[in-house]
Amino acid sequence: MSTITETMTKTEQASTPKSLDQKKPQIGSKPHMMTATWHLKDPSEWDFWQRFLIRLNVLQQPAGCPPAPLKEGTKVPYYPVWRQHLWIAPRAALPLLIHHAYMRLTGWTLHPVAAFFFYFFSFKIFAVASVRKFNRLALRYGYFDGKVPRDGVPDVMSRKVALSMLLTISIRPLFALFVAYDRYELPTLSPWLPLQIFAYACILDFYFYIYHRAMHEVPWLWKHHALHHRTKHPNPLLSAFADSEQEWGDILVIPLLTWLTMPISFSTWWMCTLYILYTEAMGHSGVRLYWQTPTTGPILRLFDMDLCLEDHDQHHRNGWRKSSNYGKQTRLWDTIFGSTRSRIECTEDNIDWVNTPWW
Ligand SMILES: [Zn+2]
Ligand SMILES: [Zn+2]
Repeated sequence: MSTITETMTKTEQASTPKSLDQKKPQIGSKPHMMTATWHLKDPSEWDFWQRFLIRLNVLQQPAGCPPAPLKEGTKVPYYPVWRQHLWIAPRAALPLLIHHAYMRLTGWTLHPVAAFFFYFFSFKIFAVASVRKFNRLALRYGYFDGKVPRDGVPDVMSRKVALSMLLTISIRPLFALFVAYDRYELPTLSPWLPLQIFAYACILDFYFYIYHRAMHEVPWLWKHHALHHRTKHPNPLLSAFADSEQEWGDILVIPLLTWLTMPISFSTWWMCTLYILYTEAMGHSGVRLYWQTPTTGPILRLFDMDLCLEDHDQHHRNGWRKSSNYGKQTRLWDTIFGSTRSRIECTEDNIDWVNTPWW
């Protein structure tokens, strides 16, 4: 808490709720927490974690600079969900296919420790490919609220950002291996997989909604969520950027509650979780597209409850007690509990249904 308050700017102090303003910030004693200039410095000045991020090639390009401003009146292009599935499904299913072939061809099983490393690296490859894709699309289509530059990876928190990412991609497979992995079971997927993903995402989002909204509305919980809201215009690398308490909730508690509500096989869990991860990172990418969540978007659109990228982007622009759009996979619970916010750019008359991206 003290780190957060110490780095607040004057403007933010003015809008800080009284109960959070007890420790007086020391203006000017430290750089603003979200200042991101390290990538502009000589590479010899980068620390280990900054080099790690550069090597993964996951920073926005050109780093920290918004793409050219869009012409006035440019509509928001629609990103068809079936094209997203075409991109996600083969990449997500490939490790299961390799695992399946290994068991069939050799007659051997995969020890849980070997499975952990195999799925950890597969998770990492998928996550990196997703972030690069979002950055690529941002270069072509720009960002929501495009007059304001996107936040980069903060100078003072590069290590934290990298570790949060690594924690997400290591703890989630580890947890699933504990609860759902059976080394004698051949990886297989059900024809009902799309519905399983839909149900899993709705259940996960229910738990996430309650916990997320509580963090906004219960003063003593907000301190655990405030760090995630330091970014008003996030990028995908900041998806897991949060206080430790929130990190463990996001990474472990919510997926565990979801799995206990809907116990599924390891293979099904794997597919659901990669779709969830993709959706979480996409929600923080800010890319100016009418980009529905692939987990639930098309079905919930029938009921006007689909979540799109702009919704979580707007959530970040609004902080404590003023926020809305708490769901990250659906708008189902926001609609039921009355916390949706009207879209600014993705209004029906401002969507370009013709000029749509592929990848
Ligand atoms: Zn929030
Ligand atoms: Zn967020």
